[in-house]
Amino acid sequence: MITKMKGTYDVIEDIGYMQEIEKKMMTVSRLFQYREIRTPHFEASSLFHRSVGETTDIVSKETYDFIDRGKRDNTLRPEGTAGVVRAFIENKLYADKVQPQKYFYYGSMFRYERPQKGRFREFRQFGAEVFGSNDPLIDAEVIAYAVTFLKALKIKDVTVHLNTLGDQESKANYREALINHLKGGVDGLCHDCQKRFHDNPLRILDCKVDQENPLLINAPHPIDYLIDEDRAHFNNVLDALKAMQINYEVDQRLVRGLDYYTHTVFEIKVSKDLLGNQNTICGGGRYNNLVETLGGPVTPAVGFAFGIERLIVALKAANITTPDAAMHVYFLTLGEAARLVATKLMQRFRIGGLMCNMDYLDKSMKAQFKQSDHQNARFVVIIGEQEVAENTVNIKDQNTSESYTVSSGDAYHKIMELLLQGSGCEDCDKGAK
Ligand code: ATP
Ligand code: MG
Repeated sequence: MITKMKGTYDVIEDIGYMQEIEKKMMTVSRLFQYREIRTPHFEASSLFHRSVGETTDIVSKETYDFIDRGKRDNTLRPEGTAGVVRAFIENKLYADKVQPQKYFYYGSMFRYERPQKGRFREFRQFGAEVFGSNDPLIDAEVIAYAVTFLKALKIKDVTVHLNTLGDQESKANYREALINHLKGGVDGLCHDCQKRFHDNPLRILDCKVDQENPLLINAPHPIDYLIDEDRAHFNNVLDALKAMQINYEVDQRLVRGLDYYTHTVFEIKVSKDLLGNQNTICGGGRYNNLVETLGGPVTPAVGFAFGIERLIVALKAANITTPDAAMHVYFLTLGEAARLVATKLMQRFRIGGLMCNMDYLDKSMKAQFKQSDHQNARFVVIIGEQEVAENTVNIKDQNTSESYTVSSGDAYHKIMELLLQGSGCEDCDKGAK
């Protein structure tokens, strides 16, 4: 037997959670006025090298790369921002009438990582990107959008951790201070960090191995190297979060693992009780230079990305359930003529908006009853020889155990009446009696 590839999984039992997440994502995105964008699952490898950065973990050791039959270098997308930025530039969205441009995306990402709880090789992200505004209120809006999405999913106990790196000048000042601080002790850091020291010293702060090393704990903080303008930007973000009553913690050690961030960076974590060490469910920040780096006009931008698998684990750990997949009608039939009547009625019912099913395995009446139960049918519609002869059906409401015999032409209306009972519509209530 051929089995699934390491680090991948089939969505079967969790589909209810995934669909609930997708539904809330759509609703909240509308509220915040972000439009969906769908970009390809593979792009030119150079796109990720130039955006995510050569020296990041993602590009240096996690991408799925392949050369196609036309000898082109392709990479399965490891994250969503690079593709969206490419699309923004290629489709000249900077010239669109609507500004700033606000997008969200949803779909699979691919990273060759060591699989563990909450870490897969194909996983899904819901992300958002705003292009064209450097307003700190937009940084705050993006955070509010992420937090509101979690609220819609009823996930509590979340904290927004944020920090700022400042723009290029502040970042360069900080980089220098960090190099000075680290240079005496680099030998005591992990192998990766020794390399990072030369290529990309900021990454060292994000190292999972050296987190508790005193050299890192005592490292200087980006906040202390900000130029006034960048400090003001950050303070405005914090003021907006306060105004929206969004709880946050400034985490001076937060830098995030990608090269392109400037100014605000943030992560949303759920309590460790829910997710253990893999408890970061969302990461994001401002990236004011990426559009230009990839060949577009100077365009400030900010975004976030949620990991859907970790969200599902968090939903389960918090005992949040999704509504049972219920349906309206299961047809119980006895004999060929009855099956044809059921087929005809079922098509009419389905067009009329009722979710229906019937038996296709020639099961006994008892076994069909069991199926109606397994499939959570609210009603069973029984059609036997007598019903066929009299052109009637027998409707049983599983909620009340009441039965009704009606002509087959009235069956749809009867079921609609019963469904609408108690909905606050007086006419329906009267009609159903
Ligand atoms: P981590 O530090 O956990 O490796 P990251 O910084 O690599 O995360 P991002 O690139 O910011 O993660 O992606 C955003 C979110 O996507 C993460 O917060 C996480 O929830 C999720 N995520 C990242 N990698 C994986 C993976 N391999 N499997 C499942 N979810 C993932
Ligand atoms: Mg990672």
